[in-house]
Amino acid sequence: MALIVQKYGGTSVGSSERIQHVAEKVIAMRKQGHDVVVVVSAMSGETNRLVSLAKSIADPPEPREFDVILATGEQVTIGLLSIAIQAKGYAARSYTGGQVHILTDNAHNKARILEIDDKKMRADLAKGTILVVAGFQGVDEYGNITTLGRGGSDTTAVALAAALKADECQIYTDVDGVYTTDPRIEPRARRLDRISFEEMLEMASLGSKVLQIRSVEFAGKYNVPLRVLSSFEEGQGTLITSEDNIMEQALISGIAFSRDEAKLTILGVPDKPGTAYQILGPISDANIEVDMIIQNMATDGMTTDFTFTVHRNDHKKALNVLQKIAQNLGAKEVRSDEQVVKISLVGVGMRSHAGIASKMFKTLADVGINIQMISTSEIKISVAVDEKFLELGVRVLHEAFGLDKATA
Ligand code: ADP
Ligand code: ASP
Ligand code: MG
Repeated sequence: MALIVQKYGGTSVGSSERIQHVAEKVIAMRKQGHDVVVVVSAMSGETNRLVSLAKSIADPPEPREFDVILATGEQVTIGLLSIAIQAKGYAARSYTGGQVHILTDNAHNKARILEIDDKKMRADLAKGTILVVAGFQGVDEYGNITTLGRGGSDTTAVALAAALKADECQIYTDVDGVYTTDPRIEPRARRLDRISFEEMLEMASLGSKVLQIRSVEFAGKYNVPLRVLSSFEEGQGTLITSEDNIMEQALISGIAFSRDEAKLTILGVPDKPGTAYQILGPISDANIEVDMIIQNMATDGMTTDFTFTVHRNDHKKALNVLQKIAQNLGAKEVRSDEQVVKISLVGVGMRSHAGIASKMFKTLADVGINIQMISTSEIKISVAVDEKFLELGVRVLHEAFGLDKATA
């Protein structure tokens, strides 16, 4: 007998029929003798609806109250799933995040889980009850409702699995596993049987929204066996596990991409010590995270250009800050561009292989895609390109690195 934590995302609980189907899947697991804790998201579209509703009254909404509103989506699904399980003759109990003491910090809208008290859950499980817990939410030390950031139900599930020392954490979604790239962009993408925590973390950080970044961080840290599967069809899904458990390591495991980019350039700044700090210091003081950075060489021996990218949501804020900096530095001009995307190759195999970057650049050049910025780390290479090249770029790289179904 095992203890299994299952998480069902928005589309998997998107209608009463889907909820009935989830109830059956959960009961099937219970019938095999396993203890089951189920984490659910809000019904598909519901969180977006709540976001717009709040913003139609105040934009941005006050963070504490925003969380009060956002957390309601999941409260509906825990109740619905519990009555669906009960109606089929099994004991189930719904819990909000606060009711199972998912303690978080007080960073509203992006809170981090600090602690989970498993006593109540263990007592229920001992009685054979199926637990149905609301994803995406917790409470801070004063009992204020907090939420964990978009996609946060994944993190709730992994955190519960870690706290309960579950045998497996299963993330049920609308695809049957983690693919070499988003199958919606490249239909020839291939499902991976296994991927390492480290690669999955890079994929998630670089834009693959199949798992929330923090859920992968948590799973890696506490060594929670994590599996992504479809709630619509049977299958083994993808196991996210430590590198040692992966026999054949591919050179490149996947391609991630992100549309959430914006590029800012400040032209004609003095080429002398301290300039980078004078530009990026105020950006960081404004709580804006900078991703890629390029500083050109001064061709006139005096001034240079400086370019960086930020999250598209921070674009306007960054532009305002940069315009002030430009005045202070006597810069020539500030430019910005929202039509930028980032495409990244991810793979631990890169560590021991040279030539991946040049193959990537050649592949993009052959189809006329201009690379605007490049950044690399041990297991990834990212390029920023014009957003009109996103699909083409992903597809040609997918083929060039042999990730297609046909070449598998
Ligand atoms: P849920 O609502 O179940 O949490 P999400 O929409 O958050 O589901 O995540 C599933 C989606 O992630 C898929 O529909 C797919 O389009 C997208 N996705 C992005 N990258 C990948 C990838 N590499 N493998 C599988 N799915 C991916
Ligand atoms: N309902 C939340 C969202 O849409 C959390 C989740 O689904 O994981 O972001
Ligand atoms: Mg999700």
